[in-house]
Amino acid sequence: MIQLYNLTLDELTDLFAKWGEPAYRARQVWRWLYVQKVTDAAEMTNLPAPLRERLAREASVNMLEPVRRLFSADGRTVKWLFRLPDGQLIESVLMGYADGRRTACISTQAGCAMGCVFCATGQMGFARNLSVGEIVMQAVEVARWLESRGERLSNVVFMGMGEPLHNYDAVLAAIRRLNAPEGLGIGQRHITLSTVGLVPQIRRFADEKLQVKLAVSLHAATDEERSALLPVNKRWPLSELIGACHYYVEKTGRRVTFEWALIAGENDTMAQAHALGSLLEGLLCHVNLIPLNPTSGYEGLPPDKQRVAAFQKILADHGIRSTVRIRRGIDINAGCGQLKAEVLKEEHRA
Ligand code: SAH
Ligand code: SF4
Repeated sequence: MIQLYNLTLDELTDLFAKWGEPAYRARQVWRWLYVQKVTDAAEMTNLPAPLRERLAREASVNMLEPVRRLFSADGRTVKWLFRLPDGQLIESVLMGYADGRRTACISTQAGCAMGCVFCATGQMGFARNLSVGEIVMQAVEVARWLESRGERLSNVVFMGMGEPLHNYDAVLAAIRRLNAPEGLGIGQRHITLSTVGLVPQIRRFADEKLQVKLAVSLHAATDEERSALLPVNKRWPLSELIGACHYYVEKTGRRVTFEWALIAGENDTMAQAHALGSLLEGLLCHVNLIPLNPTSGYEGLPPDKQRVAAFQKILADHGIRSTVRIRRGIDINAGCGQLKAEVLKEEHRA
């Protein structure tokens, strides 16, 4: 079965050439995929019937089977659990903001190999990389859902399940397709990639000269503390990671966003705040402080408001800007990997 969303426009053109179809048919199909966002080849009404039938027989426009869809109590967050053709489950989230942004948070891997202790996806382990089509289709699904309500997808963040830079080629191809005017047309500045800190890939990403925003999951400012939370730190310690971030800023002229999940009594201490202040000195950056979203596989809890404010005050004293962000849709397990974990538990019980 040919998965149409896995093909580039050139590959689709080649396929149709092989089938003896004129080249403009590829562009027509492309529009059905990325503009009209059809779910079935039968809907491609400007194609001759025999071609539609051949597509229906030999190709698929649908790799994501929705298994669950949940809405947060405030109605602004929607979460999908999709089943892939081989049975793997992945999650995608839509977040709506008061300023009109409609952001899709998408997955890049089934599971994750990085093993961050507080992360529901990390607790599951790694199954496999997603294909370009499986990545792009999540955004297509969210966009279709929005368009049926008269809204448009404006932003995409690679912050779902998996480590995007561990699936580098597919993620890069997905970024290009999301961005292409004849793809989904999402501006590069409206795309954010979040990484746990794979140093060689951050440098390579800097060399791509994209305008995509880079977020780095930092979570601790000393190697001892960071290695305890994020095993990847043993491979690429802070000095190398911060070095790669400086390289990124030099190459792109863009600031780096650091993510910091605040965990009570763990990385919310004044000592960590001061260490963070020193670590980021002279780096064009912003820090997002996110009170931990508790998961079943980790005992940590978020700190109280006063403690968050005290941490932020120390950063400000170091001249570092930060924003406190509340994880959206906690009531629907919208944290990374949590819905899948929940459904797997249910299936296990059944
Ligand atoms: N693998 C990438 C992107 C996916 S995770 C990365 O780690 O950056 C997206 C963000 O959610 C990361 O910053 C991650 O550290 C954070 N995160 C994971 N589990 C969390 C939890 N339980 N509470 C708060 N943030 C969490
Ligand atoms: Fe993987 Fe990111 Fe979760 Fe770490 S936080 S386990 S890198 S998905």
